[in-house]
Amino acid sequence: MILDCAVIGGGTAGLKAALVLGRSRRKTILFDDNKPRNAVTSASHGFITRDGINPQELKRIAQEELYKYPDVRIEKQRVHRINKENTLFKVETENGEVYSAKKIILATGFKEVLPDIPRVKEFYGKSLFNCPFCDGWELRDHPLAVIADDQKAFHMAKLVSNWTNDLIIFTNGKEVLSLEEQELLKSKGISINEKKIAAFIGEEGMLEKIQFEDETSVLREGGFISTEWLQADSFKTSLGYTLNEQGGIATDSWQRTKTEGVFACGDTRIAGPSQLIIAAAEGSMAAISVVAALTEEKFNQDKQHA
Ligand SMILES: Cc1cc2nc3c(=O)[nH]c(=O)nc-3n(C[C@H](O)[C@H](O)[C@H](O)COP(=O)(O)OP(=O)(O)OC[C@H]3O[C@@H](n4cnc5c(N)ncnc54)[C@H](O)[C@@H]3O)c2cc1C
Repeated sequence: MILDCAVIGGGTAGLKAALVLGRSRRKTILFDDNKPRNAVTSASHGFITRDGINPQELKRIAQEELYKYPDVRIEKQRVHRINKENTLFKVETENGEVYSAKKIILATGFKEVLPDIPRVKEFYGKSLFNCPFCDGWELRDHPLAVIADDQKAFHMAKLVSNWTNDLIIFTNGKEVLSLEEQELLKSKGISINEKKIAAFIGEEGMLEKIQFEDETSVLREGGFISTEWLQADSFKTSLGYTLNEQGGIATDSWQRTKTEGVFACGDTRIAGPSQLIIAAAEGSMAAISVVAALTEEKFNQDKQHA
């Protein structure tokens, strides 16, 4: 059977794309190996009607909704390779199965690389986060840290100051702020600590203090940490789409990549703020684009045969 669309990645972006495709009666397979970036956290905030939901529960509900649509199948396995052969895409899974699809939606997300600071993984997703729009409310009015050893420090601190008046920037041994920036931050009550961090201290993921190499420490109850973003997919492909300056898959506003028939949505585009609701909206748009393209092809074919 030739699929209308193979959706690679079943996070919010891919699930929403599959829902629109299923409701449009398009033969679709959604591939997912369930390793999303937000697996480190137990509560997702700000998704309208689902504020605070466990991300795996959100996924379960979305999958249950998809089971109603007979044209959609969920394959809980990893895609290993995608190639284009003539007008069709060959999608190969890690189990060696091969599927043919007219269109591809990439919704593979990104992976975060945390700074190399002892014990950071214990706290990330529990009391240290990346996005204040997602987790700032829960940390409001607490003594917070912004941990960043590059230019993001200034931007993040300005943003996080919306949630607390007790904020310190930790640059982990680097001098990253200009004198002008330092003056401006201090005038708003934000302090700067440039000591090299030895470890985060606390229990069960709840930060209590930041310990430095000189054996001093500062009490903090949480904060926001700058992370590096990389593509999460690891499949081999000759699809040849282009990447944007941040390393995300470049698309137009219809989620079309430079490669005919290939669409991308959600975090994999690494194009700006990353949130579940943004990923869902982009998934919807990608599916609408796929259906629009298939419809045009159908009517052009009919014209040629008339
Ligand atoms: C600590 C933390 C807290 C967050 N809190 C919030 C919050 O409170 N509110 C909010 O709105 N957002 C939050 N986010 C952001 C949110 O999680 C992301 O924006 C969202 O998950 C992006 O959805 P996505 O579908 O693009 O990618 P993902 O959710 O990452 O899903 C991608 C999926 O594709 C799969 N995949 C990748 N490659 C393949 C392959 N080759 N084959 C098969 N499957 C594959 C992955 O396993 C994964 O399941 C948070 C993120 C983090 C890290």
